[in-house]
Amino acid sequence: MQPAREELVERLARSPALDLVVIGGGATGLGVALDAAARGLSVALIEAEDFAKGTSSRATKLVHGGVRYLAQGNVALVREALRERARLLQNAPHLVRPLAFVLPLYGARGRWLDSWFYGAGLTLYDLLAGGARLGRTQFLGRAAALERAPGLRADDLAGGLQYWDGQFDDARLAVALARTAIARGAIVVNHCAAVGMTHDSAGKINGVLVEDRASGQQHRIGARCVVNAAGVWVDSVRRMDRAGRGALLAPSQGVHLVVDREFLPGRSAVLVPRTRDGRVMFAVPWLGKTILGTSDTPRTDVPGEPEPLPGEVELILSEAARVLERAPTRADVRSVWVGMRPLVKPPDEDPGDTKALSREHAVLVERTGLVTVTGGKWTTYRAMAEDVLQHAAEAGLLPARPAGATSTLRLVGAPARGERALSDAPGLHLYGTEAQAVQALPGATRELAPGLTEAMVRFAARHEYARGVEDALARRSRLLFLDARLAAEVAERVAAVLAEELGDAFDAARSLRDFRALAARYASVE
Ligand SMILES: Cc1cc2nc3c(=O)[nH]c(=O)nc-3n(C[C@H](O)[C@H](O)[C@H](O)COP(=O)(O)OP(=O)(O)OC[C@H]3O[C@@H](n4cnc5c(N)ncnc54)[C@H](O)[C@@H]3O)c2cc1C
Repeated sequence: MQPAREELVERLARSPALDLVVIGGGATGLGVALDAAARGLSVALIEAEDFAKGTSSRATKLVHGGVRYLAQGNVALVREALRERARLLQNAPHLVRPLAFVLPLYGARGRWLDSWFYGAGLTLYDLLAGGARLGRTQFLGRAAALERAPGLRADDLAGGLQYWDGQFDDARLAVALARTAIARGAIVVNHCAAVGMTHDSAGKINGVLVEDRASGQQHRIGARCVVNAAGVWVDSVRRMDRAGRGALLAPSQGVHLVVDREFLPGRSAVLVPRTRDGRVMFAVPWLGKTILGTSDTPRTDVPGEPEPLPGEVELILSEAARVLERAPTRADVRSVWVGMRPLVKPPDEDPGDTKALSREHAVLVERTGLVTVTGGKWTTYRAMAEDVLQHAAEAGLLPARPAGATSTLRLVGAPARGERALSDAPGLHLYGTEAQAVQALPGATRELAPGLTEAMVRFAARHEYARGVEDALARRSRLLFLDARLAAEVAERVAAVLAEELGDAFDAARSLRDFRALAARYASVE
């Protein structure tokens, strides 16, 4: 039986010094906590808000080697990501599925130069994947391209290239990582922030002060090693330690717009390999809708809920209009959400050009012993975790234990095989082997929105550590990301179910009010 959050907080407060405390419950921190627990280390993870509330719920939802990194000549990064892609498909097949992509080729340039150039690149991509290849890259004639990706702009279309990658439900994968780590003995707590550090007489970090946002109580957790995995907020955590000087990050933001499936009704994504400002852009079928994105705009502040900056929405709509037959307008946007990339600053930075910044991760062991990890991408979270634990062991902060404990570790709910594509509308298939447990709860046939039942909300509260309307509708169900207005409409019923499940500790009126304000922002593209 999985421990309730209250029990985990209790264990956190009572625990003797642990091997490891991880700060931040996004992909990076959760990966580290799971790997450490799987190696038999004692570990706690604290997340200030909710699992994946930061960047890790705002990805383009691709599990990919990154065709674009190949163009930059970063073969090692691509090869590693392709290896991790295969592992994710194996270890969480209910949440990670293969996806076909069509790269459209337009005009005479498309027929000759582009088809040769991109065809060669994608063939190399297949070769690098080796046995982990998901399907062969194919040249498509004009009719085949339109058949595979209905919704493509037909005018001047010469043909296309089809290749394969993966896609996933990022926030649900994060929750699955948290629950798997808990099942392995880790103490993993959301809505609990690191607010300070403690040090020994030699100035070495030996603990973290945490504040449980539910009760307001503070505790000190002793630790041999502290890992700072706070995403774009790593610099603020570094400032809590004595080591943190100078900023490590040069964040940039990426906007996604969600429109109806009718704009791209097939099961293939579309890749625009070169936008007018020299980036890649995707139109991705996801959970019954279409995601368009993304931008890459430098930012010096790091808000929890970033909003699009002037020109970003226009840019995405105008690039979509270049490849889609029916050009989406602002009125078609169902939800807009923005993620912040934790890009690592090079020593001789040019803050204006984030495209050129490395997408690789960095691990830094500070002189106080604080281990900071940042950068990278969702796809490679597992390999990043291994690297972090290796750095910590080399610095003498953790016992050295062999890597590889998570290579074939199946996550909570993982069925033997995935059944449905992630492009399909949401539903019980996202619960894998736990679908029956969801159906056994009251309200299994009472649908609140397409693909969301009352029983799913109860399951979110009882088993997935949802503490409020936002946790339930943004990251257990993804309704906020798919259709923000509809999410606001069903919020009251969700709050009522959560009130039954969470009892007096839950302030339904406040949770509802906060969620409606958030949903209004996601619904607005003014
Ligand atoms: C627009 C965009 C699109 C992307 N698309 C993809 C993609 O398609 N595929 C892919 O593989 N990668 C993608 N990425 C990259 C990927 O999403 C990120 O690399 C990854 O999510 C970063 O995870 P993280 O855990 O480092 O950061 P985060 O997810 O931001 O997690 C950090 C956490 O730390 C918490 N925190 C902060 N301060 C404290 C504190 N004091 N105490 C406790 N907790 C704290 C925050 O609340 C946050 O939840 C994309 C990124 C962006 C921005």
